[in-house]
Amino acid sequence: MELACLDLEGVLVPEIWIAFAEKTGIDELRATTRDIPDYNVLMRQRLDLLDQHGLKIDDIQQVIATLEPLDGAVEFVDWLRERFQVIILSDTFYEFSQPLMRQLGWPTLFCHRLITDDSGRVVDYKLRQEDPKRASVKALHSLHYRVIAAGDSYNDTTMLAEAEAGILFHAPDNVIAEFPQFPAVHTYADLKQAFIDASVRDLSL
Ligand SMILES: [Mg+2]
Repeated sequence: MELACLDLEGVLVPEIWIAFAEKTGIDELRATTRDIPDYNVLMRQRLDLLDQHGLKIDDIQQVIATLEPLDGAVEFVDWLRERFQVIILSDTFYEFSQPLMRQLGWPTLFCHRLITDDSGRVVDYKLRQEDPKRASVKALHSLHYRVIAAGDSYNDTTMLAEAEAGILFHAPDNVIAEFPQFPAVHTYADLKQAFIDASVRDLSL
């Protein structure tokens, strides 16, 4: 049995925090782990900014609902789901991704959770586990699935390595250079072909 595991942000949808920063005009929300390497410090800053701007979970979801999946992503996911069981492995939060997942037809998503209080204020966040993408592939192996995975960045590389086949999609040049063991593609047409090539079954476009 074969499973396809996909990263979400940068592969099927835009980087959600950056797109959210653009929509709201809150520039400080553009910060990523490249600016603030400690993820917990970064997340604290993000939650403080949401508070400062009085943004509750409903407001956030309304803004995110105006975002769209990347061009061609919906068609790609439909194509993939006809040929593989598909699981999205993401470091986003369910509450953040919900409006975009609706547009993708609600594929299975393993990610993290935001914690809100009764008023809808985002007070905290809960990461599911350490190295969650890799741990998910390992768990799927224990269920005797063969896994083909695709992602665009550093937080995907342990997932790509753990899978029987890993594919870089839309990855920046530095990631492609650092991980030459993974084929790198840049269009959904090439990504479809990469999944077909990685499959042990006789699939066609
Ligand atoms: Mg990504």
